[in-house]
Amino acid sequence: CGICGVVGLRHASPIVFDGLRRLEYRGYDSAGIATLVDGKIDRRRAAGKLDNLGALLETSPLPGTTGIGHTRWATHGAPTTCNAHPHGTERVAIVHNGIIENFEALRRELEAAGQVFQTETDSETIAQLVDYHLAQGLAPKDAALKALQRLEGAYAIAMIFAEHEGLMIGACHSAPLAVGYGDNEMFLGSDSLALAPLTRRISYMEDGDCVVLTPVGVEFMTFDGTPVRRAEQTTALAA
Ligand code: GLU
Repeated sequence: CGICGVVGLRHASPIVFDGLRRLEYRGYDSAGIATLVDGKIDRRRAAGKLDNLGALLETSPLPGTTGIGHTRWATHGAPTTCNAHPHGTERVAIVHNGIIENFEALRRELEAAGQVFQTETDSETIAQLVDYHLAQGLAPKDAALKALQRLEGAYAIAMIFAEHEGLMIGACHSAPLAVGYGDNEMFLGSDSLALAPLTRRISYMEDGDCVVLTPVGVEFMTFDGTPVRRAEQTTALAA
């Protein structure tokens, strides 16, 4: 029920974890974080309280400067560690808030094409769809846009890609997502509260927006790749 992500120069998982703390008020049943470690996707996930994820990160730290995190309120698939986000493959990791209405048809299509699913969630369909396009040789942005064009329902999504340090892609439709502008770091968050201590400079994404983030750049576009501009706002100082 909450998303937080960062691309920058600092250790990502503590920043993302603190962001998830500030999203706890929305309610959740499990949580997880994925980062890039030497170009490979690694993740930690835990059912139950954020403290469980925190304890796991203590015993098994997650380095890396590109990271996404999620608090889940299960809609499809039991609230287990296996069904906790981030979901993904060796190529891509995603977090998703909302519901993918056409996930069953997409899943059947992707399984027929050889994609192997690991969870019961609607959300994993997003990861498998992006993975399928990456495997066909598409670059991350093109694979993401192609996948987004197929999704029906309500969603806010953040994605990271193996071998692409410093790249994070976000998208939303009928679910909120905000971009935060930092100094050599950029953020995604479900709301301004998640981003409050990180930056006062944010843009709210609009329905059907995709955003490509690097530590020094933010590019908004529609799902067909047409560039759009989204105003930067200055939020009130964090309490
Ligand atoms: N529908 C997704 C799931 O059940 C995401 C739920 C959420 O918004 O946290 O995993």
